[in-house]
Amino acid sequence: MTTAMQEQLEGSTPHILSQTPDALIRQIGEMGQPAFRARQLVDWLFQKRISDPDRMSNLPASFRTQLRDSFDWSLPGIVSRLDSEDGASKLLLRDAKGMQFEAVILRYEGRTSLCVSSQVGCKLACRFCQTGKLGFFRHLRADEIIAQFMLANQLLESEERRISHVVFMGMGEPLDNPDSVLAAVRLLTSPDAFGLSYRRVTVSTSGLVPGIMRLADKSLCSLAVSLHAARDELRTELMPVNRKYPLAELKEALLFWQKQTGQRITIEYILIRDKNATRREAKELVRFLHGLRAKVNLIPFNPHPGLEYQRPALREIEDFQSYLSARGYPSPVRYSKGMEVSAACGQLAAKHQESIFSAPLRRNVVTASGLPGTSSRLS
Ligand code: SF4
Repeated sequence: MTTAMQEQLEGSTPHILSQTPDALIRQIGEMGQPAFRARQLVDWLFQKRISDPDRMSNLPASFRTQLRDSFDWSLPGIVSRLDSEDGASKLLLRDAKGMQFEAVILRYEGRTSLCVSSQVGCKLACRFCQTGKLGFFRHLRADEIIAQFMLANQLLESEERRISHVVFMGMGEPLDNPDSVLAAVRLLTSPDAFGLSYRRVTVSTSGLVPGIMRLADKSLCSLAVSLHAARDELRTELMPVNRKYPLAELKEALLFWQKQTGQRITIEYILIRDKNATRREAKELVRFLHGLRAKVNLIPFNPHPGLEYQRPALREIEDFQSYLSARGYPSPVRYSKGMEVSAACGQLAAKHQESIFSAPLRRNVVTASGLPGTSSRLS
């Protein structure tokens, strides 16, 4: 069931950011407005990425009031914004009940990525992840995922940038919340909605097989898989989800996804000393990759207080990488900046505090959300 249908059944005011352009056009018609008004609204929302009716300057005041009364326009509050010198901005957001989740803007030459959360907390309890330690609180709705995108675009307006890429690598396992995530992905990639290329929207999963099968639709989005070990015993130790979806089943799902989409898969692999960074594990990884068109992002583990794991020595990292490269698998080592270090799914709470903000903070801005801000680092 879509979020919009759910809202209707529950009798709640539908959120503006859960609407498809078609649904909006129909509803605006039902409100007695001419078709060109609906097209103007769609243009403001999806092309200009503006979600405040007061800024929709070519709409008459009476229509704006009608829109305010007919839809929920609320956005998550911005509790704080932390900027690092390497071009990342971490937004700590909170919902109406005060639950907090995060989104991270990553600026690069020629592109700007946004890492979005799909849940508050996570159920999957990966051993190397602090979000996993928090436990699960709730799923985010599609409008709350799109709201992260709208807020980020709004903040970037003064820099004359806009979000060009979206990655579902924030808090939560996206495919544990597939209805909301798929609805958000469709809005992001539909040519008549936000119109991002499917190559620019990546869902990163710890390997939930049913969800991967649902994503196996040509031109829907790109796929990243947090693998971290290619031997069942070790993967189950690091990622308990492997008990439910062991490697053989995961591989079958990835082969199916690849066949359906014709796309290359990104494999995320956090390198942990004396665990999965050895030659034996590199061999297992190559065996697993056989038959897949894959790129492997190698991410040296960033030690966190409360987590027992360590980063391997440089020599071990290089050895692991050269083993993969020699066998034809591109395997860049992602060391520092934002998403590269945070490339496994949903570890903002852990990773971004250690990586993005390991660079000196430029400023700590509380934006105009009307909410009190934090004045210290989040770590
Ligand atoms: S790594 Fe991803 S799936 Fe695993 S616990 Fe963390 S957020 Fe959840």
